[in-house]
Amino acid sequence: MGSAGADGGRSQKIHLGDDAGVPGAVYDSANCPNAIGALHREATALRILVVEDEAAIARAVRLNLIGEGHAVDVVADGLAALTWAETYPYDLAILDVILPGLDGLSVCGRLRASGFKSPILILTALDGVEDRVAGLDRGADDYLVKPFAASELRARVRALGRRIGPDRMALITVGDLELDPASLGVTRAGRKIRLTAREFALLELLARHPGQLFTQDRLIEALWNADFVAESNIVEVYVHSLRRKIDAGRRASMIENVRGSGYRIRADPTLGA
Ligand code: CA
Repeated sequence: MGSAGADGGRSQKIHLGDDAGVPGAVYDSANCPNAIGALHREATALRILVVEDEAAIARAVRLNLIGEGHAVDVVADGLAALTWAETYPYDLAILDVILPGLDGLSVCGRLRASGFKSPILILTALDGVEDRVAGLDRGADDYLVKPFAASELRARVRALGRRIGPDRMALITVGDLELDPASLGVTRAGRKIRLTAREFALLELLARHPGQLFTQDRLIEALWNADFVAESNIVEVYVHSLRRKIDAGRRASMIENVRGSGYRIRADPTLGA
């Protein structure tokens, strides 16, 4: 199952692990940077919930999506997924069908019943026609058949990302700072500022909640991944870089550091003019 196939191996497959001991998942290494630099700039970073109990697949999916600049949480249990989806504002949920706790189709139905509006992508088995039909009937937007190519996963996620409502893509304005989530464009008092995708994601999170304090852990959780918790100065490094770019020539920064507590964007950033 899941050989590189007709595409001549250009895009490797994510393998479905099974009892026969299929080797661990593989992924397109070119698109899975372990550094944060090489992120795509075309797409807005999404916050994605991946519900998958097979560790190798979960890891491959996560790495691919992180490689696209998204923030990804992986949960292995269907019931836990419902809790996570209530807790965080996900832009997309990717659900495996066979899960401990609660199966993916039921998770899908319960999410929709509880008002979850973001796109849902179901991962199904090759022979899972009924699962695909049931998933779509219960409110899923799309499905992907295992084993799938990493490039197809990324393309489906991009396509679903484009469906996300105009609200999320609307301009975000805080004082004289303006962010365009659709293009990742940023201006301050009309001056264009170039940010990396991750810098943009950090600024976007703060700017969507002016005045709200975000702890370092919360920012790491939202924008990076638990893997980075060990290197906890990553937030400091990014805030430093953001300030250098957005506050150039100003006396005070619009990103406030509340010592020992976290960061917030000033609700009235003109104070820092
Ligand atoms: Ca499963």
